[in-house]
Amino acid sequence: MKKILIIGGGVAAYEAALAASAAPKTQVTVCSAESVPPYRRPALSRMVAEELADAAFYFKPAAFYAEHGIDLRLGAEAKVLDREKRELRLADGTILPWDVLVLATGGYAFVPPLPGAEHVRVLRTYADLLAIRELLEGGLRKAVIAGAGVLGLELADSLLKKGCEVTLLEAGPAVLGRNLDEASAGMVKNLLAQKAGLTVLTGVSAGKAFPDGVELTDGRRLDAGAVFFSTGVRSCARLAADAGLAVDRGIVIDDRTATSDPAVFACGDAAELNGRSFGLLNAARTMGHIAGINAAGGDERFVPESWPVRLNALGIKLFSAGTPAGAHVEHTEADGAGKSLIYDESGKLAGVVLLGDLSEAAALQKELAR
Ligand SMILES: Cc1cc2nc3c(=O)[nH]c(=O)nc-3n(C[C@H](O)[C@H](O)[C@H](O)COP(=O)(O)OP(=O)(O)OC[C@H]3O[C@@H](n4cnc5c(N)ncnc54)[C@H](O)[C@@H]3O)c2cc1C
Repeated sequence: MKKILIIGGGVAAYEAALAASAAPKTQVTVCSAESVPPYRRPALSRMVAEELADAAFYFKPAAFYAEHGIDLRLGAEAKVLDREKRELRLADGTILPWDVLVLATGGYAFVPPLPGAEHVRVLRTYADLLAIRELLEGGLRKAVIAGAGVLGLELADSLLKKGCEVTLLEAGPAVLGRNLDEASAGMVKNLLAQKAGLTVLTGVSAGKAFPDGVELTDGRRLDAGAVFFSTGVRSCARLAADAGLAVDRGIVIDDRTATSDPAVFACGDAAELNGRSFGLLNAARTMGHIAGINAAGGDERFVPESWPVRLNALGIKLFSAGTPAGAHVEHTEADGAGKSLIYDESGKLAGVVLLGDLSEAAALQKELAR
């Protein structure tokens, strides 16, 4: 029996466990630091405001893992890897041996080192969700969110639904800066301006955080019961780096998801391929599947795709694929819906931004991939 040990509790670990356990003569153990079985992380944003059925949140019920021969250990934080002995030490001192290791440790929400950073909150894990729900139950009425990307907007939407006033801070010139061309950004700005309870401030960020608010980089002070940061993700790569594996911003892998040690694979938000970390669910899912197959002795390759971004929050229905910046943009608007086709210098379609009416999304994505 080949002992395959998977560290992580997100989609990459889940897919790796499924793929590895389906191969013959494998014994799969998964160690997750979280207290609940693997779940759909993107659902956390909505769950700030609404309950979701377990079947919609968890990939599988807890019993599934044992039924499929997977030893899922929860609350099991991996602390030290000994690659020579091929052993892992957990935070509680338990030692687990492996023949092949899969690192699916994911990412953490990045908070810049600002004064008062200890007062800043993030939404990354189930434990973060519970902490936010507790704040809301305790009467949270005003919140500041630094970072107006997709995740920041989704969190703002849920907090507004729970009766909070929300101020969104965006250091750049426009919200969703990475996903919108100029004309679409104008449409989004107008949509957000109509949202009761929401204030959007651009060109400014949080400079200092306090228990009861924030000082902006332009010196203004905002009162708030909670200050959230949604300013990007960094790979959880410390465990790998401490064990002497090649780590850049993420754990360096090749297209087989193998690390600098052929007995160790890495996948998902933790990993970096050709200088690129993905930070996207579908990338993590595919990488996890491939890492699981290869850990069991297979030879699959990970080929990055151009995964689109979708958002349905604050009255914005958005599909954005490829690049929003190109040599030439064709923007049309009809009945409140927007469509931007972005072309590169050679006249090839390089990006698509749809707002409101997303019915052409699949067809345009195919055209982009050509
Ligand atoms: C609120 C939110 C909304 C999102 N929305 C979208 C979206 O709409 N579309 C999209 O494509 N992506 C979205 N993402 C990003 C997406 O969720 C991630 O890309 C994906 O979850 C990455 O999966 P992963 O398994 O690599 O890592 P993660 O999901 O981060 O899981 C890593 C797991 O490893 C565990 N772990 C870490 N270190 C250790 C250790 N030492 N020992 C044991 N366990 C450890 C962690 O506890 C965690 O359970 C969203 C993310 C968030 C937070």
